[in-house]
Amino acid sequence: MNEKVDLKSLRFEQLADFVRELGEPAFRTKQIFEWLYRGVLSFDEMTNLSKALRAKLEERAFINRIEIEKKLVSSIDGTIKYLYRMMDGECVETVLMRYTHGNSICLSTEVGCAMGCAFCASTIGGLKRRLAASEIIDQVLMTEKDTGERVDSIVLMGIGEPLDNFESVAAFLHNINHPSGLNIGMRHISLSTCGLVPRIRQLEQMNLPITLSVSLHATDNETRDKIMPVNHKYRIEELLAACRSYAASTRRRITFEFAIISGVNDELSTAKALAELLRGMLCHVNIIPVNPVTERGFVQPDRPKIDRFADYLNQHGIPATVRRRLGADINASCGQLRRKREKRNEEETV
Ligand code: SAH
Repeated sequence: MNEKVDLKSLRFEQLADFVRELGEPAFRTKQIFEWLYRGVLSFDEMTNLSKALRAKLEERAFINRIEIEKKLVSSIDGTIKYLYRMMDGECVETVLMRYTHGNSICLSTEVGCAMGCAFCASTIGGLKRRLAASEIIDQVLMTEKDTGERVDSIVLMGIGEPLDNFESVAAFLHNINHPSGLNIGMRHISLSTCGLVPRIRQLEQMNLPITLSVSLHATDNETRDKIMPVNHKYRIEELLAACRSYAASTRRRITFEFAIISGVNDELSTAKALAELLRGMLCHVNIIPVNPVTERGFVQPDRPKIDRFADYLNQHGIPATVRRRLGADINASCGQLRRKREKRNEEETV
């Protein structure tokens, strides 16, 4: 048992246990926690702790850090895309988007992804590993440090499936929301899932006022099976039943993401089916014109067709918007930058 403890991955209460184990008084927990969330990288920076305690921490624990491997800034709208390198050399992407109402950050939760969606760049090399809570947190801390700006809202919509990394994501949500952590309100956090039904139900039990986004992308099982392998396991009916239950018990509006793809799901008949499926549910549809990924070959419908799809939903009682594309010049949609680096590495090793 000489593995060092990843301090930033502990929930506040777990840190309290750790501090007790070290024989230290309880008030130390808050001090250490606050330092971690100010982004310090060494125990020596924790100046209100005794030297002896700092030495003990050094011996038993470590502070995770991530480094900027690459940074791209959009000259169109100021969106920043980071490729962050973690301590083991793996990389993930993080995007900072600037809106008039504040800064929103899109975080990755896994290195790669096991879900296999046919249009998505993140899943091409499969899942390498899940991120620790500290590695999710550090994407926020490093971005705040690099820009000198505060992050106001968070979307868990980067590389990976957040509900496939449930424990770390739950610890992340807990600490980010903690008054001694970043104190970001749960209402300012969205979590996007491809539809892991038992996990959605587990999240419902936790009764957190976060926004749940569900990647639906199709209205019939046959089409969804083709583009989202997760649908073989959890059918549309089961998924929507879990969503209805989630919306009813949390009273939070669910966002359904709908990546619109030419010739796959862009006809008015699909809009009609979608309106029927979602009728009566507290929800909103976010239509995402599919982002072409070199390896994938999916094409966006033309804009009037996308607008007709959105109009149909709005006219039939389902609020729908078409997602504005930020950072178009830096390819800000997730998965592609990491993929490029992996490809380069593959070529270099051939
Ligand atoms: N695993 C989670 C979150 C990551 S993806 C999920 O599946 O929801 C965030 C969103 O981007 C999802 O709705 C996903 O389906 C969508 N997406 C992935 N690749 C895309 C592409 N090429 N074009 C448009 N949307 C895409």
